[in-house]
Amino acid sequence: MPVESIFHRLEALLPKVQKPIQYVGGELNSTVKDWDSADVRWALMYPDAYEVGLPNQGVAILYEILNELPGTLAERTYAVWPDLEALMRAEGVPQFTVDAHRPVRAFDVLGLSFSTELGYTNMLTALDLAGIPLLAVDRGEDDPIVLAGGHAAFNPEPIADFLDAAVLGDGEQISIAISEVIREWKAEGRPGGRDELLMRLAESGGVYVPKFYDVEYHDDGRIKRVAPNRADVPWRVHKHTVMDLDEWPYPKKPLVPLAETVHERFSVEIFRGCTRGCRFCQAGMITRPVRERSITTIGAMVENGIKESGFNEVGLLSLSSADHSEIADVAKGLADRYEGTNTSLSLPSTRVDAFNIDLANEFSRNGRRSGLTFAPEGGSERMRKVINKMVTEEDLIRTVTTAYSQGWRQVKLYFMCGLPTETDEDVLGIADLAKKVIKAGREATGSRDIRCTVSIGGFVPKPHTPFQWAGQTDAETVDRRLKELRDALRNDREYGRAIGYRYHDGKPSIVEGLLSRGDRRVGAVIRAVWEDGGRFDGWSEHFSYERWMAAAEQAGVDVSWYTTREREENEVLPWDHLDAGLDREWLWQDWQEAVSGSEVEDCRWTPCYDCGVCPTMGTEIQIGPTGKKLLPLTVV
Ligand code: SF4
Repeated sequence: MPVESIFHRLEALLPKVQKPIQYVGGELNSTVKDWDSADVRWALMYPDAYEVGLPNQGVAILYEILNELPGTLAERTYAVWPDLEALMRAEGVPQFTVDAHRPVRAFDVLGLSFSTELGYTNMLTALDLAGIPLLAVDRGEDDPIVLAGGHAAFNPEPIADFLDAAVLGDGEQISIAISEVIREWKAEGRPGGRDELLMRLAESGGVYVPKFYDVEYHDDGRIKRVAPNRADVPWRVHKHTVMDLDEWPYPKKPLVPLAETVHERFSVEIFRGCTRGCRFCQAGMITRPVRERSITTIGAMVENGIKESGFNEVGLLSLSSADHSEIADVAKGLADRYEGTNTSLSLPSTRVDAFNIDLANEFSRNGRRSGLTFAPEGGSERMRKVINKMVTEEDLIRTVTTAYSQGWRQVKLYFMCGLPTETDEDVLGIADLAKKVIKAGREATGSRDIRCTVSIGGFVPKPHTPFQWAGQTDAETVDRRLKELRDALRNDREYGRAIGYRYHDGKPSIVEGLLSRGDRRVGAVIRAVWEDGGRFDGWSEHFSYERWMAAAEQAGVDVSWYTTREREENEVLPWDHLDAGLDREWLWQDWQEAVSGSEVEDCRWTPCYDCGVCPTMGTEIQIGPTGKKLLPLTVV
């Protein structure tokens, strides 16, 4: 049965909404496949506005891979702004894809990629607008499988009631495998209906189907156990790891946005994973081990991506880009190749060392020397040992002074507030550090024309990290420390004017903390917030702390129990049945070492310290040098 486009109905609403261009689709490199020629159809959603969602790499990669697969099609859908939502409700227009404006409910799968938990309410809006029941238990044979992925899916328990399934880790291979399971099940005439399809997915051990697991609680509210309620469903669900990134050189045809977006460049992921062992960093922990893309493939992807998209900026992405074992060759090779052209290169990197400045110098040959960012994360040496961010004050001052001496005028320093064991002195140490940076910079350059911006985010303890047991610092303490720091910076007559200060208050971090380490009981809070009008919680102008707290009270959920409470070693955590490969005992030991301030080295260059990932996942660290070279440009 052909599925009709709803565009003619949407079009009448577009003159009445802000930024209507975001809903029309037709971007360069977007794909519309014939509906009837496909037997497996995915709607892919990044649950935020188009301007945030379109540049998302995860969705872009899956969109291409699935559309390349014979018999499979994929289209994109984004969160609609409240103005369009109101009109769609009034006119009965359903949630649609931007590619062919097909109703989302007509697809086999609605795949959502969650980079952050603050997108959960937007998922509920999309389900509701699509006409898909909010609760998985209420869905029927004609509803899509609602499937979550992305970093937040490593603890999908707070949204477990709204999901049919979740996938942990890299999506390339598992999205193809899921498509094949659906194709086979449909070809067989959908035996056993939706339930059997979910069972086939769950049996593989690579797809988590929350309804096949029961959660039992102790009287005091802690979890007693999470157990499968069907035979053949595994006790633990494993993450997926793509080992050879050169085999998956996506995106090959980058989407070029029609409306303004947060990043307007072609991004090439130069490696996945990070083994530096920063204890606060969930991304680093859950994406282990390191897998590098070869210099040859990076060069080919950059060349091809520019040709296919016309972008004139290329970003080399990863969790710590300067750590690629051949980054010096990559940087010099690409800088030589594109010198004098209108293509500029960027390396979002936070490593604090002089080598990083050499790289930045290479990459700024074609562009402006606008600013450099370094992330010491903790304000005192003691704090940086706790979080395993091995940067000494001396390193930082030397690095930043080198940057100023080489012509950089603006340096941004990124820190966190609310870290485990943190004291007021640790946070005030940020002011001392910033002042020393400016002082050393003035001495080195003989100029007062240098600036440093201190930017601070609130720390949220995350699942699958050594800090998963930590008590989160309450919002009042974070706010008080940030205010004292602001005063210490502002009141300094000598250096205060050279130091900028950016921070957010501590309340959003508490909500993020509730959602990050929540269990299934938190789902009622998410639903109550959404019913009360909660949308776009990642946007400060839409976020309401009061709404979240009122909803928690209504649902009988004690927010501090989930956030500021420290957990004991043997407490069953809501995500313990979801396997990121990390050994629980190692995580606990690392948490104890954090408290005592002892550090661990990067296992790329030192012996394995048994975090568990490589043996559990059957993987290994993959680093160069490979001896490969940047190939010459292809003659067009
Ligand atoms: S298992 Fe060993 S080598 Fe592999 S990521 Fe963990 S510490 Fe590193």
